[in-house]
Amino acid sequence: MNFKKKYPIVIALDGTSASGKSTNAKLVAKALGYVYVDTGAMYRTLAWYCLQKGVDVHDGKAVGAACRKWKTKLECAEHNGLRSVHLLVETYFPEKEIRTPETAAAVSHVAAVPAVRKWMKQTQRDCIQFGDLVMEGRDIGTNVFPETDYKFYLDATLAERSARRAADGVNENLAARDQRDSQRAVAPLMIALGAKVINNSAMTSEETSYLLLEEIRKRMMAK
Ligand code: C5P
Repeated sequence: MNFKKKYPIVIALDGTSASGKSTNAKLVAKALGYVYVDTGAMYRTLAWYCLQKGVDVHDGKAVGAACRKWKTKLECAEHNGLRSVHLLVETYFPEKEIRTPETAAAVSHVAAVPAVRKWMKQTQRDCIQFGDLVMEGRDIGTNVFPETDYKFYLDATLAERSARRAADGVNENLAARDQRDSQRAVAPLMIALGAKVINNSAMTSEETSYLLLEEIRKRMMAK
């Protein structure tokens, strides 16, 4: 793709849990040569950290205090041709630990704390230091990079999303997490103005990423 630009580009990919954000964000990042950022992993890392340190994830003040003082660092790592940003806690990336059912159950509680969202927004904006980004999450187009022209919202039926998680060996109450994510006071999950909405219930990831890339190309050409 050949186009002139001044600032790093951010592709914002938001949507419900298990709507295919990670798979498609990685496919798009690889196709464009952009850096992939999984913001859900950052919230999961804080949830894991709180569980480790015995911080009650339902105690917003305690979670906010933990988030203000934990020692972290952003790192950009390359694996199988994909560059990804990792949030390290004291040099450690808890890749496996953040996918456990315990962490999944805790994450939307820590993600609702205003001080946490403030810290995450700044940290996620700092990722621009690594170049053009494909960033997936819940509030990227509405809150983290509202200025981007490349906003997408992925969704699929609850039955389809639950089936996808079950196929990965994960049994989780996605409806409860979606409800908490959509109803929190600060930066709730919602469709950003100007976002292209894709319901991929009956689509493969190849079809979904093709649609995403087509739309990105169209928007780049229109500039
Ligand atoms: O995408 P993933 O399922 O890993 O996200 C885990 C949780 O992190 C979400 O359910 C949500 O509570 C929180 N999250 C968020 N904002 C983001 C990304 C994730 O609140 N941008």
